[in-house]
Amino acid sequence: MHKCEYPECTENRKKTWGLVPLCAFHYQLILEETLIYYKAPNKKLYEYRLHYLKIAPQISWSRDN
Ligand SMILES: [Zn+2]
Repeated sequence: MHKCEYPECTENRKKTWGLVPLCAFHYQLILEETLIYYKAPNKKLYEYRLHYLKIAPQISWSRDN
């Protein structure tokens, strides 16, 4: 019920990203890649946001944006 939503992760949730529960480790991973992504001169979503894309299906409201 209160587990991290990252695929195959069994850690307890510590934070949320876009309403998706994540453990501290995966939250940090996604935070870091997001910072890199927004600094990247040539943004390539699928290269820079690998971890985010794994939880993206859980973020229902992001699909329509
Ligand atoms: Zn996790």
